[in-house]
Amino acid sequence: MQEDSIGRLLQQAAARAIRYRDELPSRPQRPVHDYAGSLAAFDEPLPERGFSGERVIDELAERAEPGLNATTGSGFFGWVIGGSHPVGVAADWMTSAWGQNAGNHHAMPAAAAAEAVAARWLLELLDLPRESSVGLVTGATVANFVCLAAARGEVLRRAGWDVEAKGLFGAPEITVLIGDDAHTTVFSALQFLGLGHDRVVRVATDSQGQMLPDDFRRHVRVVSGPAIVVLQAGQINTGGFDSFGELVPMARRAGAWIHVDGAFGAWARACPGLRHLAEGMDLCDSWATDGHKWLQTPYDCGYAIVRDPEAHRRAMTIAASYLPPAMEGERDPSHFVPELSRRARGFATWAIIRHLGRDGIAAMVERHCEVARRMAEKLRGENAIAVVNDVVLNQVIVRFGADEQPERGDTLTRATIARIQRDGALFAGGAKWRGREVMRLSVISWLLDEAAGEAAADAIVAAWHAVRNSEG
Ligand SMILES: *Cc1c(COP(=O)(O)O)cnc(C)c1O
Repeated sequence: MQEDSIGRLLQQAAARAIRYRDELPSRPQRPVHDYAGSLAAFDEPLPERGFSGERVIDELAERAEPGLNATTGSGFFGWVIGGSHPVGVAADWMTSAWGQNAGNHHAMPAAAAAEAVAARWLLELLDLPRESSVGLVTGATVANFVCLAAARGEVLRRAGWDVEAKGLFGAPEITVLIGDDAHTTVFSALQFLGLGHDRVVRVATDSQGQMLPDDFRRHVRVVSGPAIVVLQAGQINTGGFDSFGELVPMARRAGAWIHVDGAFGAWARACPGLRHLAEGMDLCDSWATDGHKWLQTPYDCGYAIVRDPEAHRRAMTIAASYLPPAMEGERDPSHFVPELSRRARGFATWAIIRHLGRDGIAAMVERHCEVARRMAEKLRGENAIAVVNDVVLNQVIVRFGADEQPERGDTLTRATIARIQRDGALFAGGAKWRGREVMRLSVISWLLDEAAGEAAADAIVAAWHAVRNSEG
């Protein structure tokens, strides 16, 4: 097998990637291949002999492209997925080429330093306590896990139990209070930590999925002993926020550790016009958020932020004789994440924040919320289309056939989503909300602006009319 030069391969990859991104406007907003089609494209026996890099990169592009979902296109309103900003992608390519392992700040100083500075900038952008420590992880799922591990350790330490050393067997019980509409991955994090996804107190929520303060009061009143409260900034369907102003003082009186899942909603704090939604969020103890959602870093990137760096470190620290300890004023990145070896995510985060700046980030997030409001307004004005949520952020949930029986409305909503996906002018998916089918729009990709929102709303209305006409 001949050697391929890195110059040639990177140029080949760049040409392929550039063409892909340039052609997105003329591609349908959905994968052309489904899973079976993609599997058939890749599936073949283990190669006994290798092929040239050039050939493999061409094959990879040809086999993958039909099965790619155009998440970086201007019509993607599917799940809460950022648009992989070009500056982040370019930084990430260099990250790969540099091959750094961000687990060790002595061996790879630049990776650790970029991360340290990006972490400081994040605290300023989100206006969270500047003394907090930040771990760069794969996403909000792991960020929730890391924060809740710090929470678990600290509330047990206060009760005289060292969970890092002794584990959970025989430990005092921890009460976990969580909203009924928390994101499913927070329950996963609790599961990984031995806290159980069912062994929690689920607090009742309102129509926006926000905790009802009266129900929270009822539950938190009877808490005695170690407790963790999980609040939310940005409910995955409605974009709703728990009321930090009301809930935090009650949780504090109970001596609880207060964690916030702010995977995308935390970014409201970066915007003067939206900040009121997350007022008081900084009075909590830990926060999980994503880079690959509203900050538009390429996948994958999330941030685990903990006010008490010692609790964070105790939960995550890795020590080995061959790893030099962190000196005064140094930040050892492996102290704040579960992994030792990992990708140097700080480079892309640093590059995007430096490129967009505080102003650019705020303008983008505010623009997305404005687009969501306008889309909701337009859809609400249509016969038998209902916007189900109060559009406070970037999430819009929609019902079609709102004038019909609920079951019929479910059928029409499913049919309209299928029609939209087939037409391919935009991509939106379905969800269940309060037991009924809804279409969910997330306005979060950096490319989305008023014109894209308008075009998408028109396409949604056209799809709905087509469904209505064909269903009689
Ligand atoms: C996306 C999301 C998560 C999970 O984050 P990942 O980055 O997918 O791991 C958790 N909570 C909320 C509210 C989310 O939107």
